Amino acid sequence: MTIVIQGGENQKDNFIEGIHRKSPKLSRITSLEIRPVIEKSYASFEISNSKSTQTPTLFISPDHALCDACKSEIRNPQNRRFQYPFTSCLNCGPRYSIIDKVPYDRSGTTMNTFAPCDRCLKEYQEKGSKREHAQSLSCPTCKIQLNLWKENSLISTEASTIFQNVKSALEREEIVAIKSMAGFLICCHGFSSRAITELRKRKNRRDKPLAIMYSDMQAIRDNYYVSKQQEVLITSSTAPIVLLIPKKNDLPFEVKKDLSRVGVFLPPTPLLQLILDQCDFPLIATSGNISGEPIIYEDQDVLSKLTPIADIILSHELEIVMPQDDSVIQLSQSYNQKIILRRSRGLAPEFIHPMPLAGETVFAFGADLKNTFSFQHEKNIFVSQHIGDMSTWASHQRAEHICDHFMNMFNLQPSMILADQNSNFFSTALAKQFADTHSLPFKFIQHHEAHYAAILSEHNLWDSNESILGVIWDGSGYGYDGNVWGGEFFRYADRSIKRIGHISMSAWLLGNKMSIEPRIAALAYFNNIQKAQPILNKKFSSVEWNNYSRIIHNPNLLTSSMGRWFDAIASVLNLCDINDFEGQAAMLLEDKASNYVDVETINSYPIKIEEGIIDLTVINNMIIEDIVSGTASDKIAIRFHFTLVEIIQTVAALNDLKHLAFSGGVFQNALLVDLIIEKLGAEFTLYFHEDLSPNDENISFGQLMHHHFVETD
Ligand SMILES: [Zn+2]
Ligand SMILES: [Zn+2]
Repeated sequence: MTIVIQGGENQKDNFIEGIHRKSPKLSRITSLEIRPVIEKSYASFEISNSKSTQTPTLFISPDHALCDACKSEIRNPQNRRFQYPFTSCLNCGPRYSIIDKVPYDRSGTTMNTFAPCDRCLKEYQEKGSKREHAQSLSCPTCKIQLNLWKENSLISTEASTIFQNVKSALEREEIVAIKSMAGFLICCHGFSSRAITELRKRKNRRDKPLAIMYSDMQAIRDNYYVSKQQEVLITSSTAPIVLLIPKKNDLPFEVKKDLSRVGVFLPPTPLLQLILDQCDFPLIATSGNISGEPIIYEDQDVLSKLTPIADIILSHELEIVMPQDDSVIQLSQSYNQKIILRRSRGLAPEFIHPMPLAGETVFAFGADLKNTFSFQHEKNIFVSQHIGDMSTWASHQRAEHICDHFMNMFNLQPSMILADQNSNFFSTALAKQFADTHSLPFKFIQHHEAHYAAILSEHNLWDSNESILGVIWDGSGYGYDGNVWGGEFFRYADRSIKRIGHISMSAWLLGNKMSIEPRIAALAYFNNIQKAQPILNKKFSSVEWNNYSRIIHNPNLLTSSMGRWFDAIASVLNLCDINDFEGQAAMLLEDKASNYVDVETINSYPIKIEEGIIDLTVINNMIIEDIVSGTASDKIAIRFHFTLVEIIQTVAALNDLKHLAFSGGVFQNALLVDLIIEKLGAEFTLYFHEDLSPNDENISFGQLMHHHFVETD
């Protein structure tokens, strides 16, 4: 947009300052350029028609949680939207989840099947009204209908009956599926062990922590330790799930099991707010899906797939086109470093990149676990919501749906396809198939280089005068030598990335089974230590022991995975031998270490680095010595964390690098992040992800950035 202003110096400054100060709450100024022009003199104010340009910069707004003003309206018996579950305004309501076409107009959303009544139309047209041009407005007169289902029969469409039924069902400790902003949630009574145990059983989810939704911030303050920054996040228009430490122990054990933190959030929609307002307990709320599959968002799916899980299903007639899970964020304890664990509702899909890119249309298909996909069209970059684990058919369909949706919405003709170098990845197969169908060029990007490119881009470091150390630690990624990488050090300078070190290689056993069973990682990482044999031996049957011991001396593949090293240590400390969910062992190890109080007396294990390779045997030997001599496991866990920081510091010193950038799933570990900031923050400049998750969700974005900025030979 171009604005021509005329007037004195003061008037000009006031005007420019006003653009920032008075801009609508949800608007974003991505860039502002000011230059003097010699133009004709204007007698009056006028708005001239848009000049069509070749490169439209259209943003898609994320969904916005219920705002305070609308919350007061639905709670006020005098207001015409009292208890109306689809109340929204300019500052809140669904956007990305209901948009079919850009630009964002009612006709281009699934609101187009609901005609506004006269009063709504008046609000829509009224200058300065909080609903002026609010595309999602409706009211009890032109209402969106609720539907309550039980065992495939429609029981009621009448709001007050439905609310009464839902409340009674929750009180009876039943399980209720509720259509939220961008997909279905499975809910139950948050204080009922019986209901939660039943929910876990029906969802086949043994240990994975469940999120809990409270009616208001005060209830959260009463029950959890909440910092100012955490409160800002929880009450933001994203309304993400934020991990908090409970104050008291009155939460049923079933909510978080052995972990210390609980995912807590406020109701993102008026419908959920109204349900919570009538209950005197919080609600467990977890994604409505079949274990391992993406969130369910369509009514025909919910009836067939969720009827076995939910006793009743509360749906409605506003169609969702872009399904999303709730976003999950944590802040590190000491330094409040923001760590996005899942970037989805309220955050996806817009991503403002600091550097303009060449006018290509590129699609990047990401990785397999925590898949996302990204595309760049002209100056715009979109990073999709978390899609999930690509090993299921439902996830493939979901990824294709999102991809098609973006292509249609922007009428895109991609000119280049990017994918992970691992040809066994489903996402890579999907990308290849897409490239073949459309006869497009195709390029592989190495997994950890993609992570590194993502963090370099997030902080706009491509033109940095200093060389940068990339600390890229995750579970697994296909390396150039055909082995499984994951504990990697890179150097970036002048558009070139070079691998300069890694943790020493161990056997990669039994493929994916190794990531599910930390005891196998323990065997792979500790088998060469004599004193570890009795610890390892008792984790396996004699048949398993004989088979695995044979493979271990003749492995097909080797690995430098940092994630598996965490698993291995969690297993030898007897914290976890078989994961119920991805990352469980590592989270338990982090929790153990966080529990250790007497931190001042801790020193790290000795480190040996030769030609960039960190020798794990030395450290693992000491860990076993500690275990054998009866050292407490929380002390061993914290020593291990200290050792990781020491490794980073030593590698940086050996390579004479002062700028450190971190990416990969290991940096979801808030304790590790805090220790890095505490011990290295003064001496080094540190870069962590803030707008994207450090885990594989950032791979698709990293692939795009690698394609643009890294010169390959
Ligand atoms: Zn509102
Ligand atoms: Zn109306």
